Amino acid sequence: MLFRRELERAGIVRLHPDFYLANEWGVPFPSISIGIPFYLAQPDLIAIHADRNGYMEGVSPTDLLRFLRHEMGHVVNYAYKLYEQEDWTRQFGSMMQPYTEEYRPQPFSRRYVRHLPGWYAQKHPDEDWAETFAVWMTPGWIGVRFTRIGRKRSRSSTIATGPWLSSRARSFADGHRSR
Ligand SMILES: [Zn+2]
Repeated sequence: MLFRRELERAGIVRLHPDFYLANEWGVPFPSISIGIPFYLAQPDLIAIHADRNGYMEGVSPTDLLRFLRHEMGHVVNYAYKLYEQEDWTRQFGSMMQPYTEEYRPQPFSRRYVRHLPGWYAQKHPDEDWAETFAVWMTPGWIGVRFTRIGRKRSRSSTIATGPWLSSRARSFADGHRSR
């Protein structure tokens, strides 16, 4: 599976999420199971879903990986209870913050990363984390992650030094930080 290779390449070797078919994308708190929309498992179901909704997101391998990286952020958060750490709360906010469907995004905000459409990171601290994690995990960011994210530097180093990474990946991050 493409995603497993990507996890390995990112240095995520200690944490193995489960996958199951669900109604929609998501990771039920506090599990480490990634729900993948069931219709993605069958080409004819994809066709039906596309027919009903007119628009079909997350079907191409590129889209799938984007969602998987995002959900992996939730997995890491829950597996290591990052949301209980002071440093995490300082950077992303409180997990207790209510989840509102009607959030008012600031489209030009530089405080948040943009990954999935819809300024998703601004929705909730957990989503902010998942989106930041997804950007960090995206191939091509390796090596430039620490310079390009800019003001997100401390956030990305929180990710890059976590216990879910291989020691090799962590020493790579340390080298980048000390520059
Ligand atoms: Zn999410």
